Amino acid sequence: MSDPRNAALAAIAARAAAGHPLRLWLRDDDAVAPGQALDRLLDLTGAAGVPLTLAVIPAPWGEAPTGPALAGRLETAPHVRVAVHGWSHRNHAPEGVKKQELGAHRPLASIHAELRAGLERLTGLHGARALPLLVPPWNRIAPDLLPGLAADGFTALSTFGAEAAVAGLVQVNTQIDIIDWKAGRIGRPAGPVWSEMAALAAGPRRFGGVLTHHLVHDATAWAVLADLIAASTQAGAEWVGVERLIAAG
Ligand SMILES: [Zn+2]
Repeated sequence: MSDPRNAALAAIAARAAAGHPLRLWLRDDDAVAPGQALDRLLDLTGAAGVPLTLAVIPAPWGEAPTGPALAGRLETAPHVRVAVHGWSHRNHAPEGVKKQELGAHRPLASIHAELRAGLERLTGLHGARALPLLVPPWNRIAPDLLPGLAADGFTALSTFGAEAAVAGLVQVNTQIDIIDWKAGRIGRPAGPVWSEMAALAAGPRRFGGVLTHHLVHDATAWAVLADLIAASTQAGAEWVGVERLIAAG
């Protein structure tokens, strides 16, 4: 059982056989407009019957805001839901500090105003497909912002790693990132990704989240994602929409 892929698939199959299959969800970040990479992601997930949550940047810094083109493209992809990926994905942290849009570097009231505007814009464009789910850019958010998110209209929050209790919100995180950012935005090799899936499937979590970024996927990332989906499904994992996990609380 030294091969991490075999170990992960065995753990997934064991859970399915025991009657509590591993549930997985897929979050893809940084969408703004349609394009070839997005088409590929929508085709891959749609063909596999895997629900997809697209974390959309409402008004990307220095670029045109997201608009009807993306909304129109998603009309033919009923398996997709939209989450609010901050407001502009602009880094407001000082030099030398980890990047953060939603840090405590600006007045909280102005950040809340942006988040409300982001939710409003995406709901206006995508209707019921838009979920009141906040995905902070770089998976980071100042703790002082959390108490006000419910009043902004959000019911759920998604970052990376283990969930922490947040009053008034359901937290549904991702745990497996298929991109190696430090190595230069390249797809991680299959072995380490499957090792993380093996640990997740053998552990106590009810569900796990996989994080992708279609705009930077190389051949490795696409291959790993396709294999993760196909092999885990074959082994008995259930890919579910994030709205089901949010509803389960
Ligand atoms: Zn992002």
